[in-house]
Amino acid sequence: MTTTKKSNKEFSVTVNLIIFLTLICLVGITRLLIVHISDKNTFENVSIIAEINYDSNMDLDKTLSKVENTMEKHYDIDIYYGDMIQEIATIVQANVLQDKITTLSIMQNLNNEFQKYPEGLIKEIQDKGYKVSVYIVDSFNNGNVALANRTSNGYFNIFLSDASDFAKAFHHELYHILEYYIKLEYDIELAYINWDKYNPSDFKYEQDVTKLTYNNVYGLDSQRELCFVSLYSKFSESEDRAEVFSSMMVSNENYKKNYKASNILNKMNNITQVLDDVFASIKSNMYWERYKNI
Ligand SMILES: [Zn+2]
Repeated sequence: MTTTKKSNKEFSVTVNLIIFLTLICLVGITRLLIVHISDKNTFENVSIIAEINYDSNMDLDKTLSKVENTMEKHYDIDIYYGDMIQEIATIVQANVLQDKITTLSIMQNLNNEFQKYPEGLIKEIQDKGYKVSVYIVDSFNNGNVALANRTSNGYFNIFLSDASDFAKAFHHELYHILEYYIKLEYDIELAYINWDKYNPSDFKYEQDVTKLTYNNVYGLDSQRELCFVSLYSKFSESEDRAEVFSSMMVSNENYKKNYKASNILNKMNNITQVLDDVFASIKSNMYWERYKNI
C-alpha cells in the first residue's frame, strides 16, 4: 500500500513539474516591508497530532510519514518534502530541506495554522477537480519565504520554507489558493466589485516595488486614511487581499483597534463576505472574523 501511494505521489510531482507555473505569488519582499505583528492565538482547537517528544531513538521517517498521512487525510491536501521534490524545488529556486526534525517541526506548525480553517474547506476545492499540495522546503535562493502557484491542469501549490514568519506566510499563500478557486469557479470581478472604493481615489497598484510609497499604509503613515495593511499590499489587488487576509489570521488586539473605521476594515468585511458566499463549509465566527470583536 505504501509503495502504491508513493508512486502516485511521485507521479503527481512529475505532472506538476511538466505543466508548470501559470501563476506565481512571491512573498519575499513582504518579509522586508511588512509591519511585524505578534500572533495572539485565542482560538481553542484540539490538535489532530499528538504531542511529539523528540528523542534520539525516534524513527524520524516513520514519525514524519505518520504525521504527513494524518494531515493529508484530515485537511484533504498532499504534503511533499525531502529528496522527492528536488526537481520542482529547483524550478521555484528553493533548496530541499534535508533535516528531518525541522521538517517535522514545520509540519507541526502547518497543522497549528491549518486547524484555524473549517473542516471540509479544501475538500470543496478538491471536489471540483483541483488538487491542493503543500511543499516543505528549506529556503529560497532569492530570499522569498513562501510561494503559491497554480498549474493549467488544476494543481494549486503552496511552497513553505523554514521561516520565522511562517504563520503569516502560510495564511497569505492559502488565501491565494482560495482565490485561485474563486477565480475559476465564480465571478471574482463581481465579488470584489467594490474593492477599488477602499483605496485612495487616485490609487493604482504598482508592480515596480521601488515606486511604492508609505502613503495610507498601516504603521508607516500616521497622517492619511489607512487603506493598506502593508507596503506589499500595493503590489496588486490579489496581493492586497492576501495581505489583508493573513493579517486577519495573525493580528493581535492592538492591531485590530487601529483598523477601526478604516478602509482596511472594509476590505476585511469584503473578504469575509466573499468567503462566506463561496464556501459551504464556512459558517459564522470563523477564525479570521476575530477583527469584528474589537
Ligand atoms: Zn502573494
